[in-house]
Amino acid sequence: MAPPSNLAQETDSILQHLGVDRRVYQQGTRIARSPATGVTIANVQGSDTTAIGNAIDGAAQAFQTWRLVPAPRRGELVRLLGEELRSAKDELGRLVMIEAGKVASEGRGEVQEMIDICDFAVGISRQLYGLTIASERPAHRMMEQWHPLGPIGVITTFNFPVAVWAWNAALALVCGDTVIWKPSEKTPLTALAVQALVMRAVKKFGDAPQGLSAVLIGDRDAATRLTDDPRVPLVSATGSTGMGRTVGPRLAQRFARAILELGGNNAAVVCPSADLELALRAIAFAAIGTAGQRCTTLRRLFIHRKVYAALVERLEQVYATAHVGNPLEDGSVLIGPLIDEAAFTAMQATLSEVRALGGKIIGGERCHADRYPAAYYVRPALIEMAKQTGPVLRETFAPLLYVMAYTDFDEVIELHNGVPQGLASSIFSNDVREVERFLSAAGSDCGIVNVNIGPSGAEIGGAFGGEKETGGGREAGSDVWKCYMRRVTSTINFGSELPLAQGVRFDIG
Ligand code: NAD
Repeated sequence: MAPPSNLAQETDSILQHLGVDRRVYQQGTRIARSPATGVTIANVQGSDTTAIGNAIDGAAQAFQTWRLVPAPRRGELVRLLGEELRSAKDELGRLVMIEAGKVASEGRGEVQEMIDICDFAVGISRQLYGLTIASERPAHRMMEQWHPLGPIGVITTFNFPVAVWAWNAALALVCGDTVIWKPSEKTPLTALAVQALVMRAVKKFGDAPQGLSAVLIGDRDAATRLTDDPRVPLVSATGSTGMGRTVGPRLAQRFARAILELGGNNAAVVCPSADLELALRAIAFAAIGTAGQRCTTLRRLFIHRKVYAALVERLEQVYATAHVGNPLEDGSVLIGPLIDEAAFTAMQATLSEVRALGGKIIGGERCHADRYPAAYYVRPALIEMAKQTGPVLRETFAPLLYVMAYTDFDEVIELHNGVPQGLASSIFSNDVREVERFLSAAGSDCGIVNVNIGPSGAEIGGAFGGEKETGGGREAGSDVWKCYMRRVTSTINFGSELPLAQGVRFDIG
């Protein structure tokens, strides 16, 4: 057997420091690789049928006691988790870089997002408010209560390997639910690290039930077991629309709840009044940041004909010079690797389709293949298209930006909304009529609609998610906590009469 690489050693040292049992990631058969170099960094143990059954059993048992712990006390556990994340921010951020290929600020940023949602959830733990409702009957009162729901399944992607879990888990835990997590098969190590941090927080908390938080290591079969288990009343599943097409109907079949956070095909509109320098910076981050591997990545850009030539020229300069490389070795890199060979192949297949349709492409080619033959670095591709057709209508999870010219505002709104997905959108304009129209019911049909910033890089305070084939789910801030609880409506009679609602009479003599 070849000796462990430096990266495998660094990974081992981080995992040891965070308290992950070495047997779990060194004695398994599932090979974990870093997309930065393509080298093997661990051999992870998968969760077999028995382990999955035990994890769901444990979460169901733990729910019986966790649901009775007062919500502000449950918040204390999440506060402790936030503290663990704060002290592990550098190491966990580095592990995100190693396992998902992110640049340093994004690796750390992902952990910061976990800390932010923990803080938010701690506040929510004292605000699980129900309404008091006026009754139409004398000496009656109505009220709503929010009760814990049960063990919650969370299925996540490689591109936000830890933050998406935190969006769900921090809220679910303060809501009195227990959590079973099936992370992406491409990023098991960050999940194991987070679970170790949860266990540290649990230990400090003192009396949290065993089984409160579990991780299932596996691929779609493990996700399907979780999806089909009748003890799991809600599954929050983040990933491709293809995944949602399987998971959504399976949950519907057994009347379980779903939070589906699926693929996007996000657009921006640049109007004649836009601040072009600001737009350029926002477009660059949204289109090529995270190597185009964000659900909110900007993929379609509509530029008004009056400013088209000027903005495309500036974009060409950015695309020609943006630094692509290994973020683990070079802090000035803006674009890291694609996650794997399959992502590269899908990108090249899309570029072939674009060529056949007459699209004009700048970039898109592989780079650093000599140095990293098992890793997939690409130049981001800027593609001028005459029309919105073919591959422009779907999501290719790579740094591809389709640029199209428009003349008329009504026409561009129609084009903007003329795709099956509905996640994130932006308008760059200083014309209040255009801006308000874009934000209105007759404007963008997406879940996220931004003005003078790009479509990506959301904060946790708002509800996150999208419409149409993006799945309709919402995660993170605002009143999303309600998705993790069951609503109880009660009518209380404190009088001695029994009047019926709507004046109904039922005299039994
Ligand atoms: P993916 O769909 O391949 O995998 C996501 C998760 O679903 C993994 O844990 C995987 O094991 C599981 N899975 C896949 N197919 C399944 C099936 N048929 N049944 C049950 N489970 C299944 O996605 P990915 O490549 O890891 O991530 C990229 C995709 O995720 C993109 O489409 C991106 O837009 C989307 N995404 C969406 C959001 C959002 O909030 N809307 C956020 C991040 C990523």
